[in-house]
Amino acid sequence: MHEFAYEELEEATQNFSATHLIGKGSHGSVYKGVLRDGRIVAIKTQSLGLQKLQDNSKLDNEVRILSSLPKASKCLINIIGISHDSFSNKVLVMEYLPNGTLHDFLHLSPTPPAWPKRIEIAVQIARAVQVLHERKPSVIHRDIKASNILFDEIWDAKLADFGLATEMASDSSSQRGDSTCRPAGTIGYLDPCYTSPHKLSVKNDVFSFGVVLLEIISCSKAIDVNRVPATIVHWAMLLIDENRILDLCDKRLAPARHMEPMILHVVNIALRCVSPKPYNRPTISEIVTDLQICLVEPTRFPIWMTSFFRGIIFLQKKRRKIGTKRYKTTTTIVCAAHEASKQVDISSKKLLLREILADATLR
Ligand code: ATP
Repeated sequence: MHEFAYEELEEATQNFSATHLIGKGSHGSVYKGVLRDGRIVAIKTQSLGLQKLQDNSKLDNEVRILSSLPKASKCLINIIGISHDSFSNKVLVMEYLPNGTLHDFLHLSPTPPAWPKRIEIAVQIARAVQVLHERKPSVIHRDIKASNILFDEIWDAKLADFGLATEMASDSSSQRGDSTCRPAGTIGYLDPCYTSPHKLSVKNDVFSFGVVLLEIISCSKAIDVNRVPATIVHWAMLLIDENRILDLCDKRLAPARHMEPMILHVVNIALRCVSPKPYNRPTISEIVTDLQICLVEPTRFPIWMTSFFRGIIFLQKKRRKIGTKRYKTTTTIVCAAHEASKQVDISSKKLLLREILADATLR
């Protein structure tokens, strides 16, 4: 692990000035900094309370777990190095993720993410958790939540904040009794079955992942005191009991008809994840496989559809050129792939096309 000179980090953040502060968590602060080689990084320091106690345990844990995970995991935050101040307080240097958190994307952004993007995010988070659970021994993150999922420059989701992460004991019959196993997490995401150290299991993360999935589908917060019931899990269960599954979906984004079966499939996965009985919850690899089915890849459009879109774009350009002249509802589409012309009834295709284009452009 690369050890940075503390002076370089002071320089990078103008002495950890408020203008460089990105955010504060319960255990410390995160600053944006520019290293001497020009790299932009995120620098995590301990809270003043922990600094006074000279308690490095949270950051030590984060470094230990993150550096033990496969370097090539694109879905996990990357650790670049560490440093220590003159009182031996640890400082963490991580890759800088410029596009905020999933919490902000869902709850603060004026334009809600389109359904295909939501499914892509869900798959990326599930893959991140899969890397943790498939490591030997498994790593349990224990704090999977929307504000711990950050977006990189191309809006790919990455799982961050490994301060509470812990390893399963390699011998499953002997559970670890140390403090890292004491139930911990965030209210609203915390598995209600994780009530004592020996209940620590990968299924605790599966529960939290299910809560995030419900949040992605509904754009409703994990806990909202203005909603009855206040917890998203109980609210979802209530809607299911009343046979109102589609009411779970974000109202700002009417589900496109072709997306509806996929959305119902994702709701079903989320509900299995938050099952009150941990043994009924799927494993993370089952979740990844199930979610991947729903991924909408633009390249998977059949060739005739690509040609159809090209034809529409061609027509729009032509229409712009001739100004006020209007086309009838039935017109000729240039079909490049078949090098032929085809009669297509625009009005009958209009609805489906509008839905597909909306999803494709909002990605
Ligand atoms: P808590 O630790 O209480 O759960 P938290 O997850 O918000 O809260 P931190 O992990 O300390 O706490 O992060 C604080 C904020 O800093 C985050 O909400 C996020 O907005 C920002 N942040 C954290 N890491 C990065 C990063 N690598 N790149 C960009 N911003 C980051």
